[in-house]
This record gives sequence, structure tokens and C-alpha cells, in this order.
Amino acid sequence: MKQKRIFLKNATLLTEKGDILRHKNIFIKEGKICSVTDEGAQIPECDQILDCTDYYVSPGLVNLHCHCAMNIFKGIAEDVSADAWFNENIFPYESRLTSDDVYVGTKLGVAEMLNAGVTAFADHYFEEEAVLQAVLDMGIRADIAPTIFGTAPDFAGRLDAVSDFCERNRNRSDLVAVRFGPHAPYTCPPDTLREIVKRAEEMDLNLHMHISETREQVAASRELYGKTPFTMAYESGAFERQLLVAHGLWVEEEDMAYLAEQTWFAMCAKTYEKLAMGTGLAFRKHKELKFSFGTDGAASSNTLNICEQARHYALLGKFESWDPCTYETIEIWKAMMRGHEALSFHTGRIEPGYAADLVIWDLKKPNTWPVYHPITSILYSSEPSNVAYTMVNGIFLKEDGRLRVDESALLDEGAKVQKALLERGKGNAQVFY
Ligand SMILES: [Zn+2]
Repeated sequence: MKQKRIFLKNATLLTEKGDILRHKNIFIKEGKICSVTDEGAQIPECDQILDCTDYYVSPGLVNLHCHCAMNIFKGIAEDVSADAWFNENIFPYESRLTSDDVYVGTKLGVAEMLNAGVTAFADHYFEEEAVLQAVLDMGIRADIAPTIFGTAPDFAGRLDAVSDFCERNRNRSDLVAVRFGPHAPYTCPPDTLREIVKRAEEMDLNLHMHISETREQVAASRELYGKTPFTMAYESGAFERQLLVAHGLWVEEEDMAYLAEQTWFAMCAKTYEKLAMGTGLAFRKHKELKFSFGTDGAASSNTLNICEQARHYALLGKFESWDPCTYETIEIWKAMMRGHEALSFHTGRIEPGYAADLVIWDLKKPNTWPVYHPITSILYSSEPSNVAYTMVNGIFLKEDGRLRVDESALLDEGAKVQKALLERGKGNAQVFY
């Protein structure tokens, strides 16, 4: 895919801080934002001029926690307990997944994200070669954490394989970052978790791990070890690395002391609603935690739409606090934009030198019109159909409302994978929730 010189003319910019800057031009060259000028400024030599008079331009959205390939499980386990969701459905099906399933599932998930304005995601899954290939083929940015289960019979071999994958791909492309993905303290016994963290330290790589997703996990950890999952993670050294905490919903007061400058939380509110996980202390600490939003897998969230996750998070926060004045729109917008800071890509600002990862919003549609405040319209009323253009690395991957990828071919691939998956059925899971 070729990078063109693109001039976005007379746009209204929505910054990561929530400022609204009207009548601005953005010049994009070699995948980067080259200049931001006022309306009327001279138009540089370029390949494409897009009149943005009716549009709003913001940084792209980031999905900070995702199991993208799980898109092929969308809707497979509804109205069941968290226990049945994992042990009777997802883990048994996952035990028979092929790399082709993961490749197609990831491409489908990426297509959905690009359609909704997501330009980068942090993934946590196995069959990482297939994930990587899908990312490169689709042109989105991804921070890939191959999942490691400490309880797996071939743990040592898996750790070496993941190390090798990371080493081979750490400098492969501007679009890709890699890190270690220990699954969780409950699936990585202390010695294995320490070993993974030590390896990450030796290779100077970051971590992405589920911690204290549910109240039951915290209780089980206390019973087994007399410690919270956060304490287990702390004792492994995980907080000395840049750590992406998936959920951390049931973080406890005593755990707060472990959190470092480089500790990030990915909140996935729809999953908490769907699996009736409650709203733990992470909600009440929303002013203190460094967090942004994730979707988790589509089997639990049903969509990979970050704006929708941010909306559910805010509404859930208001609902459980009995206070409609809190979780303010601008706070939620800033939290959504903060996802860029948790990843190592130079993205998230509409300023010269930053990578050109942008969303162009068309709010002149029945669901968002009229607009009183564009950020309110985006957070509370928008749908993916309001994303007119999604740009990653200076390339439009959604243009004038249409994805660049051949959608019907991709859907056919998805149908084939679904058929094969159901024919193979459930296998014996190696891990248990
Ligand atoms: Zn997850």
C-alpha cells in the first residue's frame, strides 16, 4: 500500500485533550503529519486534496486489550456464567483452533476495528505468526503479546518460541510492536510467572497480562497463596516493566502501592456487563489509575468498537456511583486518547512529526445531527457509519465510508472457518478458569 501526499483541507480538529480547533489544514507525507496550518495557507504539492469542511478529524482510536482472532467466536456463548463461558465453551473450542482460523479471525476483527476508527490495538493471543501476518496484510498497527500459559505442559518450549518470535519481529515494521503475554497469575504459577518476567527483562520487552478480572479470581488467589493476584504479579517483578494490565477490575486498596508510572489498565466495560462481573475498585479509582479502553475478545464483548466501550464504561460508572455528574465526557475522551501513550508507536496527536493515524468523522447523519459538542456526539451517539475515513501510517484503510479490503472475500473466508470450527467441535482444554 502506497503512502501518498495528502492534504486535509479546512477540518475541525479534535485534539487528544478535547480541544476543538476550527479551520485547520493537515498535510501528510511519508506516513507522518508534516504540517498543521490555518485555512487559507498555501497548499503544498500533493497527490490528494480532501475537503474536510463538513468533517471532524481526531487521532485514531486505540484498542488496548483485545483477542482479535476471537472474532470467529462472536455470539458462540451467550447467557452463560463466566465459568461455563471459559470452561465449557471458549477453552474447549480454542484447543482445536488452527493458525488459519486465527489468521482469518484476526483479519475480520481488524476490518471491524478499522471500520470503527481503531488504528492500533494491543493483542493477546496464541498462533502469533498468523496474527502478525493478518496485521501486516491489513495495514493496521498492533502490539502483539503472544499468550503464555504457565500451566501448559510444554511451558519452557513455549517461552523459548515466544522469545524467538519477539526477537525476530521487534524491529520488523513501524506497524508492529511485540511484548510478552503471560495469561494471568491464576494460569501462571509463581515460578513460571517469574521466569516469563525475567525473560522480558533480559530482552528489554514489555508485558501484557490479565490481573484480577473477577472477584472470584481474587478470592481463589487468597485461598491458594494467601495473596491477591496483584501481589503475585508484584512478586514476579512484573511492575518493574511497562505493564499493560488487562482489566484489573478487582484491584484492591493494598494493591495500589504496586502500581508504577508505566502501569496501564485496559478497561473493557461491555465484558463486565455481559459476564456480570460487577464494578470493582478500579471504577472508584478512575481518577488515580492510568487507564484506557479495550474490547477484550468479541466472544465476550460482541463488538470491537472502542467508542462503544468508552460509552459503556462511563454509563456504568455513573450508574454504580449514583452520580450523573461524574465520569465527565472530556475525562472519558482523554482516557480513550491516552491509549496511544501506553503503546510505543509515535501516535495520538495531530502535530508535526507524529504518525498520521487519524479518524475523519462525518457527524452530519441522523444519529449524530445536530451537533452541540462533537465529542459528546462521538462518545454518546456515533456508530461506525460516522467514521468516514480511517488512516493508518498515512494510508486510508477506510475511505469515503468503505473499507479498502475486499469485504465479501473476507466474509467468505469467515464462513468457511466457522463451518470447519463447528465440524471439529470442542476439544479437551489444557487450561481451566
Ligand atoms: Zn482478555
